[in-house]
Amino acid sequence: MRRARRTKILATLGPASENPEMVAKLFQAGADVFRLNMSHLPREKLRERVQMIRSVEEKFKRPIAILADLQGPKLRVGAFAGDSADLVKGQAFTLDSDKTPGNAERVHLPHPEILSSLEIGHTILIDDGKLRLRVTDVRDGAAVTEVEVAGKIMNRKGVSLPDTTIPVAAMTDKDRSDLEAALDAGVDWIALSFVQRPEDVAEVKKVAQGRALVMSKLEKPQAIARLDEIIEISDAVMVARGDLGVEMPLEKVPGIQKRIVRTARKLGKPVVVATQMLESMITSPVPTRAEVSDVATAVYDGADAVMLSAESASGQYPIEAVTTMNRIAEEIELDYSYWSILQAQSAEPEATGSDAIAAGAHQIAETLNLKAIAAWTFSGSTVFRLARERPNSTVIALTPNINTARRLALVWGVHPIRTKDASDVDDMAFRACKFAVREGFSQISDRIIIVAGVPFGTPGATNMVRIAFIGQEHAAKA
Ligand code: PGA
Ligand code: MN
Repeated sequence: MRRARRTKILATLGPASENPEMVAKLFQAGADVFRLNMSHLPREKLRERVQMIRSVEEKFKRPIAILADLQGPKLRVGAFAGDSADLVKGQAFTLDSDKTPGNAERVHLPHPEILSSLEIGHTILIDDGKLRLRVTDVRDGAAVTEVEVAGKIMNRKGVSLPDTTIPVAAMTDKDRSDLEAALDAGVDWIALSFVQRPEDVAEVKKVAQGRALVMSKLEKPQAIARLDEIIEISDAVMVARGDLGVEMPLEKVPGIQKRIVRTARKLGKPVVVATQMLESMITSPVPTRAEVSDVATAVYDGADAVMLSAESASGQYPIEAVTTMNRIAEEIELDYSYWSILQAQSAEPEATGSDAIAAGAHQIAETLNLKAIAAWTFSGSTVFRLARERPNSTVIALTPNINTARRLALVWGVHPIRTKDASDVDDMAFRACKFAVREGFSQISDRIIIVAGVPFGTPGATNMVRIAFIGQEHAAKA
């Protein structure tokens, strides 16, 4: 089974979709990667969910990527007497370290380290920005604020601090346990929420030890301020527009999206555009025109993947949502201007062997107008560099490493195949041609490009490009 598009689709699983039949249907409709959201999924259920996706993978004989999304330091207020309180504009409201239930004058903020890093003038947003407070005084263990945007505040609502660099590690105790469980369950990607600094990402990578790749969710102004460094250290990034739109003015989000996508591509890191892409499809079988345009924009921007959240996790139309994304991506990629935009934003190769090979393979494929570039890879690193070129030929990634095949399911334009390593140069060429035919990318008398490293079996040594003719013998075995 092959996709007729380069942009990948990431679907979040949840109550509306977490059963084997739905996962199979979502995959058939176009989902390439499934997200397990640890904010909602109990840790004990992780292994079973991973197994469920792996059985669908087995059924369709196609690698599927699994992303475990860690909740991160999501801050929340404590509880209220009577479960809520009505805040009044202009009145004082105090956040403190007193556990007794709150009222319209005060509430517990169960994060002592936050109380000590708030400064006079800082903004505090509650409940996705529905309420706004401004710090007017800080005392030992308490911050006094003035209510700027009033409303009802309820138990344990989320707190966003756009002005405050939070002096806590990126991972909470829950995240650490979830991370261990996710690595044990064998997920392919870990997403880290509310990344603020490169060290946050380094910490997760240190625990993961290569067992999974790490995706940074860019949803805080502090991360945008250090964008290049954070993308550089990450294996992939997500434009997490939900929290980004709370922590920064909404009208800044589209420009930031473009900046993140371009920087990620320049650095050869996959980038996912997420949140509210087809929001109305939570309750409607058809999207709004504006949503179609939003998905199209992410595709035109050259994103590796577009993501569904509640649309596929808890909405009424998960399959329709994936089908809609699939159709939009397919259509946009037929547009001539899509390819000219990608080309205009292409980045120069870096001075490395693998970039020289990637750029060379791209150039040959373009000159000869070839449909496929087959790349033999162990770690997938050459394939990331080939995808960075955004060639108008599918990158068929051939790897003996199932983890690599799964990880590459997220990457723009890559069709991963797990197969045993090539034994010699003839085998390398023969099976690349055979797979190109079998998977429907090429036919007899076409040519393909093959990228590989010889001698075989030595990772990190991509050093050859070859043009191969597809003959009767390849089609016969396909
Ligand atoms: P979330 O992340 O859905 O886990 O909050 C995505 C976002 O904030 O956009
Ligand atoms: Mn978020």
